[in-house]
Amino acid sequence: RSGKNGYAYYSSEVENSTAKRLDIENNMRQAISNEINEFVVFYQPVVNVNTQMCTSCEALVRWDSKALGFMGPGEFIPLAEYLGLITSIGDYVLEEACRRCKIWNDNGHPDFYINVNLSVVQLLQKDVVENIKRILDKTGVNPKNIVLEITESFAINDMQRVMEIITGLKKLGPRIALDDFGTGYSSLNYIKQLPLDIIKVDKTFIDDIVEDDYAQAFVKLIVDLSKTIGTKIVVEGVEHKEQFELLKSLGVDYIQGYYFGKPVPANIFEEKNLEGRLG
Ligand code: C2E
Ligand code: CA
Ligand code: CA
Ligand code: CA
Repeated sequence: RSGKNGYAYYSSEVENSTAKRLDIENNMRQAISNEINEFVVFYQPVVNVNTQMCTSCEALVRWDSKALGFMGPGEFIPLAEYLGLITSIGDYVLEEACRRCKIWNDNGHPDFYINVNLSVVQLLQKDVVENIKRILDKTGVNPKNIVLEITESFAINDMQRVMEIITGLKKLGPRIALDDFGTGYSSLNYIKQLPLDIIKVDKTFIDDIVEDDYAQAFVKLIVDLSKTIGTKIVVEGVEHKEQFELLKSLGVDYIQGYYFGKPVPANIFEEKNLEGRLG
């Protein structure tokens, strides 16, 4: 209705985005198949609230593409999931993180541990448990020092299958964290049923926690619940001292956020964060 020009404009927009998507797809297939790996793992500190020591970190993937430039996971993970390429990328990240963890554990930090994200698509692969076992074995990492992060969207799948997979993964030794807590569906129900070790509270609850009574009450509720069921709480997205102080007063165990450090390459992490006192 807005006339010929309007339509032409719209259609070229769509074509552009399709062409761009295809370009990313082709480059992603190459980046995975090539000898030269363009995926890079960054590490973000997780800090013990009481000691302010960095006791662990989260492995976060980036894509340093020759053709497309440097990309954060938000720019390519959804497409990688859609194309079924996420398992290759996820396997790479897990293997990198396991190797890194073993190096740090062997060099004076025996209890340091690393959190790794698992996509729902990856978790629903038929051989996911065998595959992760193969990676843990191959790298020789102590599996107790690996935390596998799953999201609530995984938990909404067939509960019996979900339990089977999580139980299978736990038998290998790693701990399990429920990521992005509070953003999904009927979360409390899953918390009760799943054998979780850690709950990660999403950044959206933290952004205005200093002013928002509801967000404070939510975090307090999760802290109390976690004490009852014996899980640890990690709060994500803490950027300011006021947020840190408030979360500390609410009894939160661990904090991950720019206030203590952004995700950085392994060498920088080792230099600045690894088991250091931050903040
Ligand atoms: P996530 O698992 O919830 O990871 C936390 C995200 O929050 C990271 O973004 C981190 O950089 C960001 N963040 C942490 N603290 C702060 C803060 O104080 N302020 C702000 N503004 N951001 C903060 P990133 O690295 O861009 O990762 C985004 C998402 O991509 C991750 O969210 C995760 O869902 C996904 N992702 C990253 N790496 C992997 C991977 O290896 N495999 C899979 N399947 N997903 C991954
Ligand atoms: Ca995560
Ligand atoms: Ca998260
Ligand atoms: Ca997230």
